[in-house]
Amino acid sequence: MNIINCLLNLLFPPRCVSCKTEGDFLCSQCIQKFQKQKIRSHSASKLHQISEFQHLDGVIYALDYAKNPQIKAALQQFKYRFTQELVDYFGDLIAEKLEECQMIRGRGIVLIPVPLHPKRLRYRGFNQAEVIARSIQEKTPQKIEIIETLIRTRHTSQQAKLGKKERHENLSDAFNMNLKLPQKYDSNQVHFIVDDVCTTGSTLENCAKVLKFNGYKRVYGLVVARAFK
Ligand SMILES: [Zn+2]
Repeated sequence: MNIINCLLNLLFPPRCVSCKTEGDFLCSQCIQKFQKQKIRSHSASKLHQISEFQHLDGVIYALDYAKNPQIKAALQQFKYRFTQELVDYFGDLIAEKLEECQMIRGRGIVLIPVPLHPKRLRYRGFNQAEVIARSIQEKTPQKIEIIETLIRTRHTSQQAKLGKKERHENLSDAFNMNLKLPQKYDSNQVHFIVDDVCTTGSTLENCAKVLKFNGYKRVYGLVVARAFK
């Protein structure tokens, strides 16, 4: 991974994904322009009430796509090219968000990265959700556990090319519990499914469905950016 990255950086020097200035993958000026999303509700029960999902109890996100069109380019690039600067930035952004979040005070945090199918993982070389989860863990003072309790059992076509209904159907039964891991749900901990972005919510919703079916009482989504469609 590192050698390939060094070569890539030599051949294609980093440019800001937003303004194309050479130097950083996302320059500090563009980062400053981002409008961060304030958490509107502060308790788990409130977040639960406003949830527009069937299984997911709510989604916490740092940025809104509509207000920050630049973040889309950054996240798209990140899917295909591992960039440490972006990982660090996303981790900082979400760690800051978690600090605002009162429902986690005094409780353990569990992060469950959205899994990639092994085939796609081999092709891409890393799972962006897992990398982001590790960065959040590193940047948050509170103790965070990362469990890979979900697996992807079906190789699905790429979500980005599909509409909302198709996305949901494409993903149903795509996830399952990782039976190799001991299963335990502790209601004293707050459980988040981590992904890079939430577009229609189908991915997070299908993951939450599996977890709820397996005894999880409350499950939230935690993403860098959210798009409202
Ligand atoms: Zn820039």
